[in-house]
Amino acid sequence: MRTKVSLSLAALLTVVPGAGTTEESLAAKLSKSYLELFEEAPRLQFSVTEIAAMRETLKRSEKVCVDRYKQEGKEHDQNLNQLQGELERTTRTITEVKRQDLHCKIQTARLHLSHARLLEKSSVPILYQNRLAKLDLIEKWPAEKARIDDEIRREAQYSRPYSNVKDIGFREVGKGQEDDIKEGQKAIDEMRKLGMLPKEIDEPKVREYVVDLAARVAARSDLRIPVKTTILDSQEINAFTLPGGYLFIDLGLLQAADDEAQLAGVIAHEISHAAARHGHKLMRKATIASIFYQAAQVATIIFTGGSYGIGTYYALQYGFYGLGLVLDLNLLGVSREYEMEADQLGVQYAWNAGYDPSGFIRFFDKMATKEGHVRGASWFRTHPVFYDRMMNTQREILFLPAKTAMIEQTTAFQQMKKHLEPVVKKSLTDEKAKPSLLIPESDCAKPKFPEDDNLCAIR
Ligand SMILES: [Zn+2]
Repeated sequence: MRTKVSLSLAALLTVVPGAGTTEESLAAKLSKSYLELFEEAPRLQFSVTEIAAMRETLKRSEKVCVDRYKQEGKEHDQNLNQLQGELERTTRTITEVKRQDLHCKIQTARLHLSHARLLEKSSVPILYQNRLAKLDLIEKWPAEKARIDDEIRREAQYSRPYSNVKDIGFREVGKGQEDDIKEGQKAIDEMRKLGMLPKEIDEPKVREYVVDLAARVAARSDLRIPVKTTILDSQEINAFTLPGGYLFIDLGLLQAADDEAQLAGVIAHEISHAAARHGHKLMRKATIASIFYQAAQVATIIFTGGSYGIGTYYALQYGFYGLGLVLDLNLLGVSREYEMEADQLGVQYAWNAGYDPSGFIRFFDKMATKEGHVRGASWFRTHPVFYDRMMNTQREILFLPAKTAMIEQTTAFQQMKKHLEPVVKKSLTDEKAKPSLLIPESDCAKPKFPEDDNLCAIR
């Protein structure tokens, strides 16, 4: 029994496809995409016991993995304290060369500490949340799919909320959207003042393409105020909306998207938050001032590599910026309930604009793979993953009236990707010009991080 469990664990973590024992093949299934699993799950024959065993295996292996990074963080922290102690003791006597060497070592230790904490507190839990969502899918989707088929047979899908998809743009999903414009602008002003907002990408061809795409999706949505699109010079893979239709897309997200349907799906989801006024609803109790007071406090601690940074210090040094790691989730309208609503509306808007609505799910998968482990940490903070969310999205797709030609890829998208290449290059070399609360010691050797590809693989 023991051997069987560790075999499956290895298969799961190193994502080795291929079958052997049944349990092994269940592990292999967890490395498949959500869309593949929606297709396959009704035909899979895993027993309740096998699924329960896998759930335990996941729990156990997550703990092993988290503990490993916790220990690593502890060691970096001790090293950091030691270096700072040495600097304090010798500050009046050391040579300038030695001083710079110590500064570099402290800087590197902070980066390693921050990186280990990001993995411990964010990346590893996300990896396992995704696996768990896929296990839930294998377990629950077959019955859910049968229910959906039955609902479609009985035409019961018309009784779900927002079922009137032919009236998109003419129905009401968030009365008073125009009242949010001032709130959103105020939030942006505050963020600028705090130096939290990365600079804009102004490459005209990339900008034109993204602004046009967002405007086209918005025109097919329930948003009746103008969408204001900004591309941020950040390697983070994320997008977010502030109340009032202020859409922010990170450069990293444009880089990560594979086709226009994926990008349109993300944009449609974000537009839904503004249309349904999620940010406004969640912010009702808090004021913008209090939200930014908190953000400033958190930012101060982590931008300077303080003791409880979850990776923003690391992110900043590497141009990820980490904005998504500090923004208040209320301001962005992120809650379990509103994510589900934005998924439903987003799928409808992407579909209504002519796109393959499963683009959004495909983007999730993209993030769930190694690409998302570090650069996508903020994507999963602002777009938390759980089975209900994926199921809800797929359910909505099945309920939508069928369309014959749905756009997945366009030449305009591929051209944008070409124009993006020099922008990314410039963004990476401009790293030093990026705002930081702490001026880094220059000319230090670039620290080496272990590859995250084999995140917690059992060797
Ligand atoms: Zn969302």
